[in-house]
Amino acid sequence: MRNMWNATMQAMPERELRRLQLERIQFQLQYAYHSSPFYRRLYDQFRVKVDKIRSLEEFSEKVPIFRKEDLRQYQEESGDPFSGLRCVPFDRLAHIWSSSGTTGLPTMGAYTFNDMRVATEYLCRSYWSAGYRPGMMALTLNINWHWVFVPLFGVYRRLKLKPVVYDFGAAPFAARVAKWIRILKPEVMPCVTTEMMSLIPEALRSQGYEPEKILNCFKIITPMGEAVTPQNMENARANWAGVTIKQGAGPGESYAWLFEGECDHPGAHVWTDIGYLELVDPDTGEPSGPDERGEMVATNLLVDGLPYIRFGTEDLGWLQGEGCSAGYTHPFGGVVGRAGWRLRVKGKTLIPWDVELILQRHSETALARFCMVKYADQMDVLRLMVAYNERYTRDPQELRSRLQRDIRENLGVECDIEWVSEDKLPRPVPHKLAKFLDITKEGKGRNG
Ligand SMILES: [Zn+2]
Repeated sequence: MRNMWNATMQAMPERELRRLQLERIQFQLQYAYHSSPFYRRLYDQFRVKVDKIRSLEEFSEKVPIFRKEDLRQYQEESGDPFSGLRCVPFDRLAHIWSSSGTTGLPTMGAYTFNDMRVATEYLCRSYWSAGYRPGMMALTLNINWHWVFVPLFGVYRRLKLKPVVYDFGAAPFAARVAKWIRILKPEVMPCVTTEMMSLIPEALRSQGYEPEKILNCFKIITPMGEAVTPQNMENARANWAGVTIKQGAGPGESYAWLFEGECDHPGAHVWTDIGYLELVDPDTGEPSGPDERGEMVATNLLVDGLPYIRFGTEDLGWLQGEGCSAGYTHPFGGVVGRAGWRLRVKGKTLIPWDVELILQRHSETALARFCMVKYADQMDVLRLMVAYNERYTRDPQELRSRLQRDIRENLGVECDIEWVSEDKLPRPVPHKLAKFLDITKEGKGRNG
């Protein structure tokens, strides 16, 4: 057996795993129905008999999916900041946070001590598998909110890492982070944003250093928050002297987090004895086919504070249902973008990921600072707002033609490119660009 953090669970025979999932789902359904006003109302409305779900298939067929919008609505109607999800007395909540509000109003989340323990166990498995080991100095670029901050400190303690804590991993801090790296030479970097992978080398360059000579102190970096394309990965590896990059993604409340480990295959394992994951067609809610992208629908199986049961995460991704040759029996997959961030050009469905892959091939736009504009439900021409790197751009007109040609050849559509400065691109929260702007909904104040 491989050197796993918890081989009993991570390599559990698949049949046993499915039986355990069903047991836990059955328990959670009844627990949530009897303890949470949100689930009681939802299941009464859909006539779900919570004690009559006998298989995982029945669970998918009979239990409705809910999304953030349902929680917001409940929040507005009831005035309850936890949207009716809370199953324990308020006193039992040990840690409270608010979502980033990337796609609208923030919603509230919380852990009980039990939930924190579960989240820490989950992340220990992934970080151990990625190669984090006792004694490593970890430059920690996290954020003082959200689900990830508190369990990560639990992970550092359990894995006996040496965290170096410094401001959060947002773009304006890149220069100062670069300076700290020069001084401290950390070995690993858990980081809340993927932008830092490209911003830190840029910052070092402008400070007069060759990034690959400074960043060679690192063994592993684990950025998270956004889907990283293979091209971006390749660019980053070159700047970081061939460092191992393992990315993490997944919606906070789900406990179905995708943090890459040691495996050679693409994607990350989801520890489905804790976070159960399904993929559905975002338009119909039906299960996606085996090779299709779909919206990730998550159920956390051990949470007692604010359980999520068939939560439509609005993340678009892929999932492979069987274990792998390394001995892990849990499925693996990845996130490729937001489910709402899709548009139709000449009958083709495109997502920011598709454009990002192309921009990253050109040094002038390798940072992929851009935004797709949805100006109609059916469009004839793809419209992009793009910021180019002035340092590398000699002739913007030639660059535009080159990108248009590349997009035509690879995506099969014509494309309008408007050059913009970076501050014109939508950034709903400091650590993330919104690569999608929906102007068909202008006036409604939402872009996701
Ligand atoms: Zn694997």
